[in-house]
Amino acid sequence: MRVFAASLATETNTFSPIPTDLASFHGTFYAPPGQHPETPTLCSAPMVVARRRAREDGFTLIEGTATWAEPAGIVSRDAYETLRDEILGQAASALPLDVVILGLHGAMVAHGYDDCEGDFVRRIREIVGPGAVIAAEFDPHSHLTQQRLDALDILVMFKEVPHTDFADRAEEVVDLALRMARKEIAPHVAVFDCRMLEMLPTSRQPMRGYVDRIKALEGKDGVLSISVVHGFSAADVPDAGAQIIVITDNRPEMGERLARDLGMELFALRGTTGHTYLSIDDAIDAALAEPRGPVVLTDVWDNPGGGTAGDATFVLRRFIERGVRDAAFGTIWDPLAVKLCMAAGVGAEMPLRIGAKLAPRHGEPVDVHAVVKAVVPNAVQHFRDSVVPLGDSATVAFGGLEVILNSNRAQSFEPDLFSNLGIDPLKKKMLVLKSANHFFGAFSKIASRIIYIDAGGPYPGDPRKVDYKKLRRPIWPLDPDPHGMGLG
Ligand SMILES: [Zn+2]
Repeated sequence: MRVFAASLATETNTFSPIPTDLASFHGTFYAPPGQHPETPTLCSAPMVVARRRAREDGFTLIEGTATWAEPAGIVSRDAYETLRDEILGQAASALPLDVVILGLHGAMVAHGYDDCEGDFVRRIREIVGPGAVIAAEFDPHSHLTQQRLDALDILVMFKEVPHTDFADRAEEVVDLALRMARKEIAPHVAVFDCRMLEMLPTSRQPMRGYVDRIKALEGKDGVLSISVVHGFSAADVPDAGAQIIVITDNRPEMGERLARDLGMELFALRGTTGHTYLSIDDAIDAALAEPRGPVVLTDVWDNPGGGTAGDATFVLRRFIERGVRDAAFGTIWDPLAVKLCMAAGVGAEMPLRIGAKLAPRHGEPVDVHAVVKAVVPNAVQHFRDSVVPLGDSATVAFGGLEVILNSNRAQSFEPDLFSNLGIDPLKKKMLVLKSANHFFGAFSKIASRIIYIDAGGPYPGDPRKVDYKKLRRPIWPLDPDPHGMGLG
């Protein structure tokens, strides 16, 4: 048996002002054939699993390229076509192939391509022919299109948000593909469109219970795999939105019924699944009222992990205006300000313009008279076992606040973000982050309270306020009754 594995992934926020080019992929993660590390990345885990299974099961694995760009704005046509054609060429020269296993994200949009992954897997199918098995792992913040369903035999999404199970789902997708190739199973893919755009974190109820119920259904009565496509509302593409995938061992009717039941159950949870968000002022009031710190406040809609710049100043500006002290901000992305701080040196006092340099949706730059407290070339933070580069970084202080400026866009993951830049996170009353949910695991261990702030931009966070041009309708919450159930 001959198996080909590759990975091509990013998450495109089509509203982000930061273009994604070839350098974005090469600079974030790029492993040509045979060069992939033994440890998995979020979207390339199937490659690592396929390697191990090749050794255990004795099949021939041909590795293609694996690459990932930090989420940002629309991918250049040249970058997408170059990387796509590189992997297609590798697959073509590996023929004949019995199985293709792909690590995708599912929300990549390029100029000229609303559905990059659909285009990619259609071309893979043309190369390997109808007899080969093609399986792909996706991030749940993916879109789902007919083009993908036509080309793929097996689709598996991570179940957890935060994505703690990406390696487990990689095991699943590889195993299902191999079993299908050996004719041990005959997968049938059933899909139900929930027609909804909603945040579905699984670290809290009601999604925790929903995912646990789904997991209990798998592996029984012919149910091979169930996935929830959460969708990604920061993309104006026709097929954004939540969908359910049920893969059965050739039980189409049962699969369709289960997908519909689970889909309508999810639709019934709409409006109850997300975090409770406070306005900036309510968040400050609540943090000040806490008897002890550190209170962790996170600016959820300026999360670089969702493709934004990470330089929005709405929260910082309000802290300054209200004279709030004893808070540290980690981080505000501003490579230009970092350069100035590094040139001035530690201890320097200087006028500094911080943040919001890219787009009006990020607020206005903040002008301060700052003291440079620390400069760290090539600073890092951790996220579990992985090291996340922050680029050259600086800590500046003014008016009782300390702000970390970084040059490499990254969401806030762990408290060593602060300690690595000379700030003791345990000694601050307030820590202000840029992250939607991935910070939760590490910061919940030190936080006296966690507060999610809706600062109004720029993600965009509320679909009702977005002027979507391509999104298919009807879809909740833009349309109150997309399934025609007689809802008001
Ligand atoms: Zn995701």
